[in-house]
Amino acid sequence: MKKRKIVVLGGGISGYGSAILARKEGFEVFLSESGRIADRYRERLDEWQVPYEEGGHTMERLLDASEAVKSPGIPETAPVVRALRGAGIPIVSEIEFAGRYLRGARTICVTGSNGKTTTTSLIYRILRDAGFDAALGGNIGESFAYSVATGRHDWYVLELSSFQLDGMYDFRADIGVLTNITPDHLDRYDHCFQNYVDAKMRIIRNQNTRCCFVYSADDPVIAAELPKYDLRMRELPFAARRAVASGAGDAFLCDGTFTARVGRAEVEIDTARMRLKGLHNAYNAMAAALAALAAGVAPEQVRESVCAFAPVEHRLEPAGEYGGVEWINDSKATNVDSVWYALESMTRPLVWIAGGTDKGNDYGPLKEFARRKVHTLVCMGVDNDKLRREFAGVVPEILSTSSLDEAMRAAKRAARPGDAVLLSPACASFDLFRNYEERGELFKKWVKDHA
Ligand code: ADP
Repeated sequence: MKKRKIVVLGGGISGYGSAILARKEGFEVFLSESGRIADRYRERLDEWQVPYEEGGHTMERLLDASEAVKSPGIPETAPVVRALRGAGIPIVSEIEFAGRYLRGARTICVTGSNGKTTTTSLIYRILRDAGFDAALGGNIGESFAYSVATGRHDWYVLELSSFQLDGMYDFRADIGVLTNITPDHLDRYDHCFQNYVDAKMRIIRNQNTRCCFVYSADDPVIAAELPKYDLRMRELPFAARRAVASGAGDAFLCDGTFTARVGRAEVEIDTARMRLKGLHNAYNAMAAALAALAAGVAPEQVRESVCAFAPVEHRLEPAGEYGGVEWINDSKATNVDSVWYALESMTRPLVWIAGGTDKGNDYGPLKEFARRKVHTLVCMGVDNDKLRREFAGVVPEILSTSSLDEAMRAAKRAARPGDAVLLSPACASFDLFRNYEERGELFKKWVKDHA
């Protein structure tokens, strides 16, 4: 019989991990990347003797595949994807592929429009603190496929984007977590919100009575979706607006304290004792507490780890306090919803730095907080017209700048003792920076050097 051949599309972190796993599992493999493969990934591919090409796709070497693993960054509309589909070759995502080689390990999978990285990292931290043999993967750190290829763990805690879920068919999350659903990435979903919602809801695909589903009961989009599905798993909803009750367990935030319960295991956490701040982080903490209790972590241990957990880099990350002014790096806030929660959580008068590549934002939801909390808006981007227009008459002072240095100097001048300067852009970073990480790094460096 002809040996099965796996073709991997994309030579980024997800792609090289999949290729190495395929190789380890004894498949013939070929990796194809239209751009360049980073040196460090190329070294790993060489080390594992995986054949690859870069700078284009040689179709003859792809069309004899029995299956293709597509990296999440490659859209459905890419010609190479269309050609493979046209040839009837099944295309799956990395999690679908790697999920076949778990050999009894269990998965906690986190998705949602916002809060994925924070919630995933927090769950991982709780499990590790409790002595569980857990690996972290998906969109954070090494890929899931790479850690399956190179180690054996009891638990995998995975951050999943909608693109990973799109190519998922037989994979099952033992514990699925859905933080929220708000518009994002619509360019990849034919500008149809429902397509994106459907992708997120795939998190519960294949879940059976032994599985758990942790979700926000305050999210109107999720609430509208649930009746469409035959839910067999144990439901673990969390909420802050109104109490929810599920026989399997639930969490509810009231007067700054939340109680999370799964079966008979219950933990109460005062959010004032957490290092993560803001309502959005209370949601993330409830989600993480439910997932960890469902995995069998002792309540006392859950409380300790949740309280000790510091914000992940670039997510409302304190960058220092100088002369009574606090500097906060929220560079990861690249959409309106995440900025809403950032502004919600602020208690000091604000100098707010925003702007960059606008993704068709509707700034309406931010205006109420902006009016109440922001005295100076510093626009930082190549084109600041829309922001200026939107917040004229809402924020007393609006300054237009076109570089980080200019924006930071303006913010420093505008800030008075007792204020906070918040970088929470609501926009992508590509006009002035390589990515949001670089934007956040430069912000922190400027604060250290000049504030
Ligand atoms: P993701 O991985 O989904 O992008 P992160 O944890 O990296 O989420 O947080 C991204 C941004 O979203 C941060 O700037 C943060 O302020 C905001 N955020 C975090 N959690 C939530 C939440 N539960 N709801 C809304 N916004 C959130």
